[in-house]
Amino acid sequence: MTKSGSAVKVLFVTTELAPFSKVGGLGDVAGSLPKALRQAGVDVRVVTPAWPGVLERVAASGVKTTTIKTKVYAAYDWRIHSATVIKADVKGVPTYFLNAEDYSGDMYPSQLNYWTASPFAVFCMQALELKDAIEWEPDIYHCHDWTSAFLPCALAWHRHYRQRGDKSIMTLHNVAYQGIFEPSPFLEASGLEPWSFSSSTMEFYGQVNLLKGGIVAATAVSTVSPTYANEIQTYESTRELSGILYQQRSKLRGILNGLDTKFWDPAGDKAIPAKFTVKDLKGKAACKKELLARAGFDTETNAPVIVCVSRLVEQKGFDMVFNAAHQIAETGAKLLILGSGNDWIENGIMKAAEENPGSIKLFKGYDEPLSHLMYAGGDIFLMPSVFEPCGLSQMISMRYGTVPVVREVGGLRDTVFDVDRPEGGNGFTFLTCDSDGMMWALRRAVERYNNDKAAWKNIMLEGMKEDFTWNKSAGLYKQMYEEINS
Ligand code: ADP
Repeated sequence: MTKSGSAVKVLFVTTELAPFSKVGGLGDVAGSLPKALRQAGVDVRVVTPAWPGVLERVAASGVKTTTIKTKVYAAYDWRIHSATVIKADVKGVPTYFLNAEDYSGDMYPSQLNYWTASPFAVFCMQALELKDAIEWEPDIYHCHDWTSAFLPCALAWHRHYRQRGDKSIMTLHNVAYQGIFEPSPFLEASGLEPWSFSSSTMEFYGQVNLLKGGIVAATAVSTVSPTYANEIQTYESTRELSGILYQQRSKLRGILNGLDTKFWDPAGDKAIPAKFTVKDLKGKAACKKELLARAGFDTETNAPVIVCVSRLVEQKGFDMVFNAAHQIAETGAKLLILGSGNDWIENGIMKAAEENPGSIKLFKGYDEPLSHLMYAGGDIFLMPSVFEPCGLSQMISMRYGTVPVVREVGGLRDTVFDVDRPEGGNGFTFLTCDSDGMMWALRRAVERYNNDKAAWKNIMLEGMKEDFTWNKSAGLYKQMYEEINS
């Protein structure tokens, strides 16, 4: 509540929004947390760029849109950038899509420089200008990752915006991506005061670092799990930004992500061939059969199916997987991986698949419906991350009765607990960041699956019964809003 007793007003500033523009976990969070926040009594609204295809996907989903009469403008690069504001009600959340030439290129550039970083700065300034067009003024701007980190920087250091005294929150979904590029001519073009480029603000080894600026400039900082909030203050986890995060620790907190449990629900999921519930697991076998058929594998096998659904980037630890390919095949289990990303990882997995035909298969690409079948049809979900801010996939897999095998790091440590602990758990975990550690946990999982069906069912049910809703975390976000707004 604000001082006047009305609901706190928050503008969610995000460059991803599931299901219209999702790349990873940020898209899922932006597509589900605002709804939970509104249910918790926060007046939250969302602003996001209309990247290519987004408005078409909105129309195809049946969501009605209206165009707001007033455009929004941002002064950047010695000219005025205007955007049309398209309003939509997305699952009860007022959502504003900014449609402009600035957002007509690739969503995320492969190379960051002045030109490719500019749409993100323009987006943040247009978000700051939105209040007049929509006649609604937020108490707090809630920003996410480096792509909207320019907004807190502008509120602190821009010659036009710094007078406003508005509050901002920076949520860190992944500190590995920081928005680093050459300062010239960005500093002149952006309207930031020259003193915003110093070692205590945005400067980073002679470059601009938008995430660093956002962390320093924001009123409060949060990240997506309590363990990750601690890890990022140590050198190993985020390298050079750990010092800044340690310095800023009094305004840093970790709030665990939740899931859209209606969307990720084996009892009602339209993308899977048979539904199942905690009370009636029969449908899971049909999902497994269909998944094996999709892979071209023997559908009658009794072997456990290990699945991975992931971006194939260094963070996710797939070198541990392809380096242990023969050992995995020797357990008798089948390994199915859905993902795309770095060439060296894709190639490593393809080689492992070629050398182990009938045991290992890569579905290359991004495929939302197939991801549902993987979560539903798998027995074991493997996630050997090097670091993991929160991770949603392990929670989704547990919803679908697919038992996670994960490295004990970041949010994985906060959500998956080893069944062999005296107090029991919902999965299998390992600590060391190497194939030996991973195989130790994976072998235990495969053996348990093969030799003790009753124990296995209990582990599945333990995961399926976990509360992965946003209810608790939405309350913690609301508390943060109210604290900084008081
Ligand atoms: P990250 O945000 O680091 O990518 P998360 O586990 O937090 O990892 O979220 C990943 C989300 O993206 C999950 O919803 C997962 O199902 C989805 N995902 C990842 N790769 C693919 C893919 N190749 N096809 C479909 N969905 C994918």
